[in-house]
Amino acid sequence: MKTSIRARLMLAVLLSALPGMTAALDIGGFGSLLGGGSDSGNGIDIGQVVSGIGDIGRTVTGISEEEEIEIGRNAAAVLLGAAKPVDDPALQRYINKVGRWVVSQSERPDLPWRFCVLDTPHLNAFASPGGYVFITRGLLQTMSSESELAGVLAHEAAHVLQKHHVKAITSFSSSGVSGIVKLASQTSGAQDNFMATELVNGLKDMYLRGLDKEDEYEADRMGVVIAARAGYDPYGLASVLQTLDSVNPDDDSVSLMFKTHPTPFARLDELTPVLDQLDDSVSQVEPDKRFNTSVMAQR
Ligand SMILES: [Zn+2]
Repeated sequence: MKTSIRARLMLAVLLSALPGMTAALDIGGFGSLLGGGSDSGNGIDIGQVVSGIGDIGRTVTGISEEEEIEIGRNAAAVLLGAAKPVDDPALQRYINKVGRWVVSQSERPDLPWRFCVLDTPHLNAFASPGGYVFITRGLLQTMSSESELAGVLAHEAAHVLQKHHVKAITSFSSSGVSGIVKLASQTSGAQDNFMATELVNGLKDMYLRGLDKEDEYEADRMGVVIAARAGYDPYGLASVLQTLDSVNPDDDSVSLMFKTHPTPFARLDELTPVLDQLDDSVSQVEPDKRFNTSVMAQR
């Protein structure tokens, strides 16, 4: 269980470091800089643009928001057990600034959203229930614009909004949502530093197996709408998918990403009709200078 302790410590460090950062964010100013609105973005209705999406966040029932967040803390700790955050406070602040502006344009702006760059050359991004979003250093370094970053963060945020992971997690527990909630809450006691083995193994398994293919397509469709609301070019996500499409699928850096997602080509194909519909409502602001300062300096 050594890994669990290390992961818990990492999470504690992350949690203690971020509130200070996020409190200092000038989200309103950031939004107007990008051309998005301060409250409801560009007013793009996801339901109108993306057919087949029901009530946001209501597709999984039987779990409270507190329980969702508690499961997410455990899941985030599992991810942090596999890769530590990049030791660059300015970069982590930047990711949180972009991420929090993006999710402020979502249907669940009040979740305790936290964004983190993981220190691994692999190309991937992850989310955990309740508002944890992770992107790898490897994927970030393939990007050349903030719209690409916003697109990926919005895709991951969509998984959170729609509780896709909660749905996947509960499928491995014979006792369903209530069993998982019970396991997660058992691990949150002050005297218990260990996560229940069943929960940890289940969460690891979920990240290794990936989500439902349809949930990935849904996150792509919702992601481009949320990014557009926030004033970003919705083609940012498409651009990332094109980059991924150009990587040799046998390359170790994309093995997990390709194993857990539909092919980039298939995702682009599914996304095209949504992008076509968004064409008229997009402002083409590219805050490249800030992106270059924050990310290119990493290379
Ligand atoms: Zn995804």
